[in-house]
Amino acid sequence: MLSLVGEFGAIRRWASLLSSGSGVLLGIGDDAALLQALSAPLVTCDALVEDVHFKLSWTSPRDLGWKTLAVSLSDLAAMGACPSAAFLSLAAPPSLELGWLDAFFDGLDECSRRFGCPLAGGDTTRSPGPLFLSLCAVGQGQVLGGALRRDRARVGDLLLATGTLGDSRAGLRLLQEERALQGRHESFLLERHFRPTPRLREIGRVLQQAPDAVTAALDLSDGLAGDAAHIARASKVTLRIEQDKLPLSPALLEIAARLAWDASTEALGGGEDYELLLCVRPERAQEVQAAIESCGTRATMIGQVEPQQEAPVVVQRADGSLVAGQGSWTHF
Ligand code: ADP
Ligand code: MG
Repeated sequence: MLSLVGEFGAIRRWASLLSSGSGVLLGIGDDAALLQALSAPLVTCDALVEDVHFKLSWTSPRDLGWKTLAVSLSDLAAMGACPSAAFLSLAAPPSLELGWLDAFFDGLDECSRRFGCPLAGGDTTRSPGPLFLSLCAVGQGQVLGGALRRDRARVGDLLLATGTLGDSRAGLRLLQEERALQGRHESFLLERHFRPTPRLREIGRVLQQAPDAVTAALDLSDGLAGDAAHIARASKVTLRIEQDKLPLSPALLEIAARLAWDASTEALGGGEDYELLLCVRPERAQEVQAAIESCGTRATMIGQVEPQQEAPVVVQRADGSLVAGQGSWTHF
């Protein structure tokens, strides 16, 4: 148990498990970390709270470690940044098993190595109740003039989504509804829920090959329809999403058909996909698409940016009818 090795024993133990990186001149062990200078630093923070964001009974510690870092790296990707270092605040009940925490840090380190983002520090405290994780990630902006923002979408831009949508929500639904989890489609959806892939390589390739093609971007953490509204409000436009263009995975289509779920509802409202939604200048859209596809990732045009209307997001159904997009998940 954590209480047996104490705070400093635990920190020393984790520090020995974790990999380092060239952007960190001084990492875990001193009062603060020393990072290599960044010319356009971008900083993001995300908290994960037991029984709000995850359930220990469902989640393996390795997957949770991966996801704790991956969700912040997804925010950096959405801003057009390349990660430099991460910091983790952890409040754990003293009864938490050391082996559980070792596996957690192992999963976090796997994500850290995959995307080149070393854990450079953090804080460890006792929690009287739930496990609480807060990860802060720092990155270097790759975009000329700073970052990919939400407030620069322009009328006529095309909407482009990476990957497939709704998988994570479908994986969560399988767990919540206590469905059978065996089978390759089920495994795929659960993997998408527990191990999201931050689209860092994809955005890096886009910024390299078509540097000024993306006008606005965000990552899809709370569901496409709701997240799209953030761009719409910030940019004072309306985003029209074409329902029959939504990129759906074979796994989602198959499971939705079997369980009588509506796959496009999962894709429009489902959170935690951690895919990117990009607003792209129409004449550059094919270049952006090609750059993303060169990473082996799907890139799908799903709609366009229109002059501001009453609803920030409008969904065009297959029969041509229009409905206002539903809002996304909020905590309160
Ligand atoms: P201080 O008391 O000076 O704030 P701490 O004793 O909290 O420092 O931390 C000692 C070192 O261990 C620091 O470098 C800190 O960044 C690191 N550290 C503490 N907890 C964690 C953690 N959960 N993950 C990564 N690094 C940590
Ligand atoms: Mg100190």
